[in-house]
Amino acid sequence: MSEQNIELRDGRELKLTITEEGLILDVYAENESGDKAHVGTQGMMFDGWADWVLVNAKAFLPYTDCRHCGERIRPAFGYYIFDNDSVYINEQHSDACENESGKHQP
Ligand SMILES: [Zn+2]
Repeated sequence: MSEQNIELRDGRELKLTITEEGLILDVYAENESGDKAHVGTQGMMFDGWADWVLVNAKAFLPYTDCRHCGERIRPAFGYYIFDNDSVYINEQHSDACENESGKHQP
């Protein structure tokens, strides 16, 4: 198990706890008397965090139009959003495009 406390610029503190099974995030903030108080926690097993990341990433995936064929495309599930080498897929989940690279491109 490892723990790390991170002081945030606004005075709050984030504690990361990594166990064998998961990751726990605790937030501390100053109360009225200036003492740090525990104000929230979120803990999940690693696979739960992976699911959380993918669900939230999908919510923010930018759709765009392929510059070759004009189809509506988005980065494939699980790829980095801002990586230009990402695989872009259409709404039928196909990355195949009629251009020199054979892949849709934003
Ligand atoms: Zn295309």
